[in-house]
Amino acid sequence: MAYAYDTNNIFARILRGEIPCNKVTETTHTLAFHDIAPQAPVHVLVIPKGAYVNADHFALEASEAEIVDFTRTIGQICKEMDLCPGDSGQGYRLIANTGEAGVQEVPHLHVHILGGRVLGRMLQ
Ligand code: 5GP
Repeated sequence: MAYAYDTNNIFARILRGEIPCNKVTETTHTLAFHDIAPQAPVHVLVIPKGAYVNADHFALEASEAEIVDFTRTIGQICKEMDLCPGDSGQGYRLIANTGEAGVQEVPHLHVHILGGRVLGRMLQ
């Protein structure tokens, strides 16, 4: 299956520096910034710099270097924001809304990191 990537989506424009963002961290293959409409005290969006529409596109077609960098960056942000339950953190939630059924608003892969409060149960 071919993935059609819209080069004018809002996160592509953030990556090109056309729209500002409140940056959390940046690595070789990954950018993380605060969500413009936070749903929790911590609400960070983590995106690959490559042109990937969603989670399956990234998982199937990204290089190992991109996947490792992306995954590690998520872990490092959780650690630095003191969300990890193995430390003194209370835990967190990762979300990657995907496609129409997943109600994905921006067609560039993004993982939401949510934390800083008890988030409530999603799956019953
Ligand atoms: P989705 O529904 O696609 O999983 O989430 C898209 C997220 O992007 C939403 O939480 C929304 O608040 C956030 N968002 C949309 N436009 C912008 C923007 O221009 N800047 C930032 N920082 N976040 C945005």
